Amino acid sequence: MAYEENEARAALADPAAAGVASGDALPGHNDVFAHVETWIFDLDNTLYSHEAGLWPQVDTQITLYMCELFGLDAMSARALQKYYYHRYGTTLRGLMAEHAVDPQAFLDFAHDIDYSAVVRDERLRRAVANLPGRRFVFTNGSRAHAGAVVGRLGIADLFEDLFDIVDAAFVPKPEAVTYARFIERHGIDPTRAAMFEDLSANLAVPHGLGMQTVLVLPATPDPHREAHEQGRSAEAHIGHQTTDLAAFLHCAAGGVSQLSDTRPIYDVLQRTDGVRQR
Ligand SMILES: [Mg+2]
Repeated sequence: MAYEENEARAALADPAAAGVASGDALPGHNDVFAHVETWIFDLDNTLYSHEAGLWPQVDTQITLYMCELFGLDAMSARALQKYYYHRYGTTLRGLMAEHAVDPQAFLDFAHDIDYSAVVRDERLRRAVANLPGRRFVFTNGSRAHAGAVVGRLGIADLFEDLFDIVDAAFVPKPEAVTYARFIERHGIDPTRAAMFEDLSANLAVPHGLGMQTVLVLPATPDPHREAHEQGRSAEAHIGHQTTDLAAFLHCAAGGVSQLSDTRPIYDVLQRTDGVRQR
């Protein structure tokens, strides 16, 4: 098993060495994911692009919420918001810990945004629908937000559940207790699961649990990502990375014929230099 996996991964890393012509299916390219029976997706900037502009809207809403809550000007509110984000992982967690803020009121306000830039994604739908097994969204946002997004993408019916920050008892990824809570609630075997995320830090615990980990990178520069949120592809807990989630999923599921616009597999199944350790 380990040998076969290494062989498949070597083919992913260097298709030319594996004797594969451009655009052809790589022999065994889906072996790495053949054992996967649960597919877990982060929501924001993973299932849709930052180009939809949702996060800047949420970010602004949170600043407005802080302005109203504390009677602060926007600059001071923003500084406090970022302080909570860095200290507690989410602004909400900081507000709950230090000010007993009602989380539902906060979440409703934060996600009172314009979703119209998120549009139906048939290519993603085909790729997700083609994945064998169970599928989940696992987000630090709210269920209502996740529902709005997957609804607009046209993929809502493809997921068994949307695990949100309320389900996580307001303890966000990347805290280990939250992955444990998610896994236990849904009876998931992490060694037979794959996780897709745009934030590298959120893949460390899944890797440690034995999941396949895939870093979904922005296809175009994202000016709203903070420095510590930028993926560092050489990190050992990142098993794979891609800038094209739909194409990656299509390849991972072993299909080659349904996505006419799939780029050559070796472009989208980029292995990182990180050595996976079990
Ligand atoms: Mg994300």
